[in-house]
Amino acid sequence: MHTNTRLGLAISLLTMAAFADIAGRPLQAERAVEVGPSVMIYGATAEQIDLGRWAVRRFEAAKLEAPPVEIDFHGDAAGCGGHLGFAKAGEVDMCTTLVNAMARRNLLHEMSHIWLDMNADASVRERFLELRGLREWNASTDPWQERGYEQGAEIISWAIGERILTAQIPDNDPPQIGAAFEVLTGVAMPAPRVEG
Ligand SMILES: [Zn+2]
Repeated sequence: MHTNTRLGLAISLLTMAAFADIAGRPLQAERAVEVGPSVMIYGATAEQIDLGRWAVRRFEAAKLEAPPVEIDFHGDAAGCGGHLGFAKAGEVDMCTTLVNAMARRNLLHEMSHIWLDMNADASVRERFLELRGLREWNASTDPWQERGYEQGAEIISWAIGERILTAQIPDNDPPQIGAAFEVLTGVAMPAPRVEG
């Protein structure tokens, strides 16, 4: 766990701090960088910090607030439970070292989980499940691509992202994604943007 300190500065803030790892690994120095309102990044390279700033801008360009989140970059898959990325309780773990289209998609996907945690209430989730023909919001007994929570994260990340990689869910034509995006967020899906 890190201490999420907001100093309210308009500029990005660099701090050095040492943290004990709960798994008992050695103390390591990590740089904390604020890349957006309440979006803090730890353990990132300069390129990954830019990736975080890009992700915040993609939310804002879609007229959504980036969720308050702590993003931890790891050098291997150990910090992500064997996955490339992981989101839980206001924290995102990223285990990709390359900054490429896959990393951009993965970061938006994980941040979208946090966005959904904070913004999609029970009635929104219910309407979304109905629209998508799904049973449950997040039942581990359902296959990954049939969980509302995963479809929601794929839909938001595709809609606000580069749209280079196909959303990994059924019924992923742009009009279908657009309708679902609007149910989840209350705003229209943004027009495709070339730059970011
Ligand atoms: Zn996910």
